[in-house]
Amino acid sequence: MPEERMQHSEDSKGRTGPEDLRGSVAPFDRVEEGATAIATLRTKNHEGFGSRVQDRSHVCLACGQASVYRFLYRKNGCDILRCEQCGLGRAETMGFDPESYYTSDYFSGERPDGYADYIGTENILRREFAGTVEFIRKFRTSGRLLDVGCAYGFFLHEAKRFFDVLGIELAEDAAEHCRRSGLNVFTGQADETLLGRLGTTDVIVLLDVIEHLPSPRDTIALLVNHLDPGGIIVITTGDFGSLYSRVTGAHWRLMTPPQHLWFFSQASMLAMAISLGLEVEHIDHPWKVVPLSLISFQLARMSGLRPKRIAISSRLGLPVNLFDAMRVVLRKPSR
Ligand SMILES: [Zn+2]
Repeated sequence: MPEERMQHSEDSKGRTGPEDLRGSVAPFDRVEEGATAIATLRTKNHEGFGSRVQDRSHVCLACGQASVYRFLYRKNGCDILRCEQCGLGRAETMGFDPESYYTSDYFSGERPDGYADYIGTENILRREFAGTVEFIRKFRTSGRLLDVGCAYGFFLHEAKRFFDVLGIELAEDAAEHCRRSGLNVFTGQADETLLGRLGTTDVIVLLDVIEHLPSPRDTIALLVNHLDPGGIIVITTGDFGSLYSRVTGAHWRLMTPPQHLWFFSQASMLAMAISLGLEVEHIDHPWKVVPLSLISFQLARMSGLRPKRIAISSRLGLPVNLFDAMRVVLRKPSR
């Protein structure tokens, strides 16, 4: 309910109408077919709102097809659409500025869709990341490793036992935290200028980062240019095609636009990788040890309570697998 309320208040900026209809048929938007039905209903009954609720055509950044993007639902003031060809989801936002969004607030519970207490959960996260490093070493045992969106450097600290590590982070506070702990981390976006300064690498990781990027295909394409032949890109992100995502629809835990802008499925990830000339080495849905503080934070948000920082649970973690998040290893062919 509070989500509905939030949408109404956002839309009070001069827009009214379709959301009221959505409220009256709320149970249906939990499944995507329902959402489609709502879109159709809206289009028929509210011609005036047609431009907002209609399906749209785009050249899909994942599958590269000129594709119909089906309108699914509206969340946090953003239209959520899905490519009919490959299943890639996209959030259409207006005026979202990542640079002003990813500040220290994002990592300290000040933003309802950010992290509850990122630094307080360092122990749990590092245990989790140590497992990720072990996983990566099945594909590449050493070399230069770049972490794109490295946050406070917890992954890099685990990885540096085996790799020569560097990181890129947009949030200045987090990047500075990394540098103070002795890591080689650059502040900024993964653009041509910054990557040019870093040189080529053997392993590039994007851990829960690709869904935040304004243009993920362009970024991955750039990264491929800075990857040595035979090198790998490791990506973790939600799986929009998963049962859990499909059943929970607009209420899916990872359906958090405007910070999540893209919702990959396995098919859309494969399509993008192949179109960039990458080999798909591995896809799975790993178990994860999640800090209890993050679980309670997300549960509180979903149940409409105001998320608060919960100090006692920051050190505790729980193994979780909803099979709605995937881990992908892509390899640049060696010539
Ligand atoms: Zn597509």
